[in-house]
Amino acid sequence: MLSKKFSFLMVLIALLSLVITACNQGGSPEPTDESDQEETTENSEETKDNTENNKSDKDKKEETEKDKPSSEKKNNDSSEKQDDSDKQKIEDDGSANEKLLPVGTLSYGDKGEKVSMMQEALNRLGYSLTVDGDLGWTTVWAIKDFQAQVPALKIDGIYGEGTRENIQKAIDGELEVNPGTGLEKNEEQNDNEKNSNVVSNPSSILALVNKNNQLPASYVPKNLTNPNVRFPFTEDLPKKQMREVAASALERMFNAGDKAGVDLFAQSGYRSYDRQQAIFAANASEHGREAANQFSAQAGESEHQTGLTMDVTSADINYRLNTKFANTDEGEWVKKHASKYGFIIRYPKGKTSITGYQYEPWHLRYIGEKAAKYIDSNNITLEQYLGSQ
Ligand SMILES: [Zn+2]
Repeated sequence: MLSKKFSFLMVLIALLSLVITACNQGGSPEPTDESDQEETTENSEETKDNTENNKSDKDKKEETEKDKPSSEKKNNDSSEKQDDSDKQKIEDDGSANEKLLPVGTLSYGDKGEKVSMMQEALNRLGYSLTVDGDLGWTTVWAIKDFQAQVPALKIDGIYGEGTRENIQKAIDGELEVNPGTGLEKNEEQNDNEKNSNVVSNPSSILALVNKNNQLPASYVPKNLTNPNVRFPFTEDLPKKQMREVAASALERMFNAGDKAGVDLFAQSGYRSYDRQQAIFAANASEHGREAANQFSAQAGESEHQTGLTMDVTSADINYRLNTKFANTDEGEWVKKHASKYGFIIRYPKGKTSITGYQYEPWHLRYIGEKAAKYIDSNNITLEQYLGSQ
């Protein structure tokens, strides 16, 4: 024990002496020179600043001098002419960034010079936006596409401080961006794309939400409430919530399960647009966008935003959400009885080509008893049910 301590101490001393030697080596033999150099640099920077100040002073002068007699003007002009070229340089360097990247927050619907500046900056990265000062869907798409390529950024289509800093990095060549690879354009341009629609009846019990039918970002269901059922956690999290109509149906189903001797647990219900966006971004950065798309919904494309969905699970699989749930007592019972309470297994086995999602025996969607029973007994999906009506 003691010898261990001792050898540790020796190593520490050895390291310390190394550091000291390194410091001595790094310091020049004439340390005063170094500090002088620094001062010189500072001075030159100061000089630059002064020149810039002079420039603005000159501008002010010019403004006020317009009314002065021409003779006086001439004198001034000649005295200032000699450093005109320098000033020009400083102007180009100094104001370039300001010109490119406006400060502040810009989002959908904003108009004006700042929007134009941002559009120009994005075009410098390779986007081909019309610089019209109008922040429409195409510009939102470009912002999102850029954000999707920077893991630290939220993909919200809003130009803010973080986005500005990273656009700057990309312009400076510190960050590589490939326009069009962050998001697929079709998926993000909700309006006037043939294979992507904004759900027009988001509050309908039968609202169809999938990769081709997206909920508006602003949609938040009314009457969200915590169903009185078992959860494997005690915190009061938003994901406990469901719309009242679905929450009471879930309670009836859990009570029936209790009587039948199965112990269902509710794991995840309502999820906001923003939360879904964060989840997808995290999955995409871990597994890649394409893979993430197979099991994780993009914002607006998740049924959890409807408040009509609950993921259920069992203690037998440690409250996880995976296909093993189908083989638990709870999973088997749910498959058989959920439709009586208005729920369907939304992503059934073998229907991926229709639903767009892998088999999820745990993901229950409330659609009302009539539709649920029809879908269950005919072994079809919600897509097919709505198409056949
Ligand atoms: Zn789910």
